[in-house]
Amino acid sequence: MLTVKNQSYMSTKMFHVQMLRTQLLYVRAYLFTCRSDAGQKLRKLVWPREHLYEHVHLYSVFDLQLVASGQLVSKVRYAVTFGRDHVTHCEVCSVRGFHCELCSDNEVLYPFQLGNTYTCGVCYGVYHSSCARGRKECPRCVRRAARKEHPGQENT
Ligand SMILES: [Zn+2]
Ligand SMILES: [Zn+2]
Ligand SMILES: [Zn+2]
Repeated sequence: MLTVKNQSYMSTKMFHVQMLRTQLLYVRAYLFTCRSDAGQKLRKLVWPREHLYEHVHLYSVFDLQLVASGQLVSKVRYAVTFGRDHVTHCEVCSVRGFHCELCSDNEVLYPFQLGNTYTCGVCYGVYHSSCARGRKECPRCVRRAARKEHPGQENT
């Protein structure tokens, strides 16, 4: 297994696969905590390459061949599409979306919408990428820090 993290070394195909794997990771977080059989189905779609979402930067030599031939992209894209479809239609998963606190828009955001969302790496809060751009602080993290400093004041 090889770890591929540095994006400047990535080919376009590789970069594409990496984006999809990141989406797969988020999708999986929803499906594996859903009571339906969707998590099981996702696992079957990805099997026997669970490292695709368990260690998103890890590639076997065989994976790299599949990246080159384009097969890995279609496999992962298929799993991601399945997962996204489930989340938006499942009554348990769909309510676990986020609202952007930076603009208070009513639109429901999910972390796997990589194209137009930004996910905080610390608290996993999700914002519009356009709202998060240029911001240094995440409001959820700021609230958490404030709670730590002033325990007891929960309603901030
Ligand atoms: Zn669900
Ligand atoms: Zn926003
Ligand atoms: Zn945060």
